[in-house]
Amino acid sequence: MEHVDTIVIGAGVSGLAAARLLRRAGRRVVVLEARDRIGGRVWTGRDGGAITDLGASWIHGIDDCPVADATRAFGMRMHEFTVGSYQVDGRPIAYFSPEGAPLGDDAAAGFAADVRAVDAALRDAIAGSAPLDTYRHVTESAIAAQGWAPDRAARVREFLEHRTEEQYGAWIEDLAAHGLDDDAVEGDEVVFPDGYDRLPAALAEGLDVRLEHVVSRVAWSGSGVRVTADGRVVSADTCVLTVPVGVLRSGDLAIDPPLPDAVAGPLSRLEMNAFEKVFLRFPTRFWGEGAYAIRQQGPEGRWWHSWYDLTDLHGTPTLLTFAAGPAARAIAGWDADRVAASVMAQLRRLYGDGIPEPEGVAVTAWQADPYARGAYAFMRPGSTTGDHDALATPVGGVLHLAGEATWTDDPATVPAALRSGHRAACRILGEDVAIEELWARS
Ligand SMILES: Cc1cc2nc3c(=O)[nH]c(=O)nc-3n(C[C@H](O)[C@H](O)[C@H](O)COP(=O)(O)OP(=O)(O)OC[C@H]3O[C@@H](n4cnc5c(N)ncnc54)[C@H](O)[C@@H]3O)c2cc1C
Repeated sequence: MEHVDTIVIGAGVSGLAAARLLRRAGRRVVVLEARDRIGGRVWTGRDGGAITDLGASWIHGIDDCPVADATRAFGMRMHEFTVGSYQVDGRPIAYFSPEGAPLGDDAAAGFAADVRAVDAALRDAIAGSAPLDTYRHVTESAIAAQGWAPDRAARVREFLEHRTEEQYGAWIEDLAAHGLDDDAVEGDEVVFPDGYDRLPAALAEGLDVRLEHVVSRVAWSGSGVRVTADGRVVSADTCVLTVPVGVLRSGDLAIDPPLPDAVAGPLSRLEMNAFEKVFLRFPTRFWGEGAYAIRQQGPEGRWWHSWYDLTDLHGTPTLLTFAAGPAARAIAGWDADRVAASVMAQLRRLYGDGIPEPEGVAVTAWQADPYARGAYAFMRPGSTTGDHDALATPVGGVLHLAGEATWTDDPATVPAALRSGHRAACRILGEDVAIEELWARS
């Protein structure tokens, strides 16, 4: 039986980061990856030459961010696009009223001020929330404190529902009151014109990554691990397990003996979301120039309310919208044409029947992906922010969980994945290694 120092399960950003640091420290490392590609939830499509980030696309704030440092060091071009965190304003956004008419500047500014007033009240509501309170409970108390007429309150309420869906892919009544605590954006947001997948590609250089190795069992004891992939067993002194929460909870990957309560408890309180991207490429930029995003208010926007203009990024008139939470669950299994028709009905309300049909449509299916089972994890009511870090509690001194869901400060992101891989490597090495080692040249 082959024996190595460390087996890393999963060639996403967390696994590649851990493997790279361990290898730099001279350890023998094997990365076992189920898919026929690396990158996991960082995945860039290149059909017909069109670059499409089907998984992550944004760095949500480049200040003090190791992913920004790494991508700069790897020579990846960045494009500023600071609307990726469902900001109400700060960059030009073309708002439409519930009736589908453009909202004037004053009305848009008034609406943004309303959202800010509720956000200010929300901080106290969250701080005073009970353990089982949902994000709905706290947002309702913050809205009620304003004493507004029903229509004014409704606009802000729907904004908060949509923010919950776009940020966490969850319905507002399913998310814990603290579920958006990490939502601060430090500095500009950026996206990658040449594709985010250049990051995992650079991290993977020189590593022993074995693709199409579906791990079905991890047996651990105080003396090491035995990992089974497609009937073959590899043993190691330590293991970094980076599969998403959805895979961990599915039972597809047996852990023997089962995870101890210190890890199983947090895992039971986190859940994989429903969040899909819809890209529409058009022959013309019929919506005009100058706005980063288009947003419609009101009940017609229940599913399709926000479109992001990617034209400057790739040079082709392109809108990105999201099916998030209930909408994502409802469209699961729809073909691209049906999704596009549903989105186009809303765009026609705003821009008229004369707008062109899309020439290209791409719709993701992360919910149906057996190696992801959703886009990223969110906090169920009853969870605490600390559940993320607790999920990475070392098991038996040999098994280390890593991945976006195991990092409390800004979970659900690529930076969280990177930092969690760094932490796992440091724990295995028994010393602090600078995270900059990940992009060091020699
Ligand atoms: C649609 C979408 C949009 C997103 N947008 C953003 C964004 O704009 N900004 C941002 O920062 N983050 C975003 N994210 C989240 C970000 O992509 C993830 O947080 C991050 O990539 C997770 O990295 P990871 O290493 O934890 O997990 P993964 O990338 O999922 O890596 C885990 C690996 O394990 C593999 N695996 C699973 N099961 C097995 C098995 N049985 N055997 C072997 N291998 C297995 C998987 O194939 C995968 O390669 C988005 C995600 C999605 C899906």
